[in-house]
Amino acid sequence: MDYRSTRDQHVFISASQAIIRGISQDGGLFVPCRFPCLRKSLEELKELNYQELAAKIMACYLPEFTEKQLKEYAHKAYDGFASREVVPVSQLKNSVFMLELWHGPTLAFKDMALQMLPQLLSGSLTIQQSDKKILILVATSGDTGKAALAGFADVPNTAISVFYPHDGVSAAQKLQMTTQAGENVQVTGIYGNFDDAQSAVKRLFTSADFQQKVEDCGYSLSSANSINWGRLLPQTVYYFWGYFSLCRRGQLKMGDKMNVCVPTGNFGNILAAYYAKQMGLPIDRLICASNENHVLTDFFTTGVYDIHRAFHKTNSPSMDILISSNLERLLYHLFDGGDEKIRELMAALKASGRYSVPDDVRQKMQEEFFVGYCDEENTLSTIRDVYQAESYLMDTHTAVGYHVTRQYQEKTGDKKPVLVASTACPYKFSRSVLTALGGKVSADEFANAAAIEEMTGWKTPQQILDLKALSVRFPDICEKEAMENRILEWIKG
Ligand SMILES: *Cc1c(COP(=O)(O)O)cnc(C)c1O
Repeated sequence: MDYRSTRDQHVFISASQAIIRGISQDGGLFVPCRFPCLRKSLEELKELNYQELAAKIMACYLPEFTEKQLKEYAHKAYDGFASREVVPVSQLKNSVFMLELWHGPTLAFKDMALQMLPQLLSGSLTIQQSDKKILILVATSGDTGKAALAGFADVPNTAISVFYPHDGVSAAQKLQMTTQAGENVQVTGIYGNFDDAQSAVKRLFTSADFQQKVEDCGYSLSSANSINWGRLLPQTVYYFWGYFSLCRRGQLKMGDKMNVCVPTGNFGNILAAYYAKQMGLPIDRLICASNENHVLTDFFTTGVYDIHRAFHKTNSPSMDILISSNLERLLYHLFDGGDEKIRELMAALKASGRYSVPDDVRQKMQEEFFVGYCDEENTLSTIRDVYQAESYLMDTHTAVGYHVTRQYQEKTGDKKPVLVASTACPYKFSRSVLTALGGKVSADEFANAAAIEEMTGWKTPQQILDLKALSVRFPDICEKEAMENRILEWIKG
């Protein structure tokens, strides 16, 4: 299996190279040349445990790695999860099933990939016989940063530098990052939003000058954002897992279709579901749920992508994104590998903040995806209503997904089971969750967590309680123009 760049057909590299580089020099993202078909082997995969399933699926895309090696990686990545199943599925009313992706060390779905990526990266360096150290650059809307730090802290031959919008993450998210332990980590707030951080990081990735300076310090650059193929691939696994879980409970017969709903920001998680579908997993509609920053809802509806709009800071901050990077991969596939077309669209986006796709592509998008969004008020009322009716507690991002799932069901009458990606633990967003439950909100996030526990009986995870005793190691905030220097000074030591 080889990989191409979405912006240049002539780029043709192996999986290990794609994982090491993260993003193509031309600014494009790496995509697999084809999708392996697993339709015939679904029955065999059904009885595997999570770790075995992960190894089997990833092996289809990583011919340079043995399945045994990948299984070891999967055990290292997932054995420490709070749930023995790794990803438990909770059944709610109305054929809604919550795929709980947040039982890992940092309490968000990003752990599913970021506990795996450091191992894929180390393995890739060995395959490429590289003696370089790796510098991981991360722009985060909150959860990726912490999950990447947890994955890479003190991993030999790596260094990781994380940038987050200083005013755009939850209190728990900020504390999780700024208290991070490890000799090889750097964490910095920036004045700006996630798009500012992501665009600056992408610019650094494609700057030959910056790359040279990094190499002069003995490092090569890579990415832990979902632009990296090594991030996306482990995310395809849990859609198979969720499907098999519904089969094992008798909710589906093997081969029956389910729908999948994903609360979406950078379009990584839902793209992984699209890839699972391309591999033969029986998925009917992909439901793309946005918050008030509903640039994707509008794009799928009109065919026009337009970032000239107000940026809202919402109570689902990990989805406060206007430039969804992974959309580029979907478009590449929908244009049947049209690198020229992608260059054109992305150039328009850069120059004017806007592009449009032809009607036939828009129609393909609408066949595959249902889109909708959920505003701030509905996010909170969803958390409250579902808790009151079903004693099930969800975080703000997941609530956006749940709300749009119900929109879909009401609009279409489709009764198929819907697997909703539950992307974060409610205690990562205690302030909003407590507000939703009608509790008295305090300036102290730990008091908010305690109040939720008292109201619901849901246990506060140890990772949140532990934060209280940690001190902030990284208080710094910088302008986005200063990011480059901050990184270089740090790696120079
Ligand atoms: C990152 C994140 C999302 C958005 O996922 P994308 O892959 O960026 O679309 C949704 N919810 C939570 C809690 C997240 O951390």
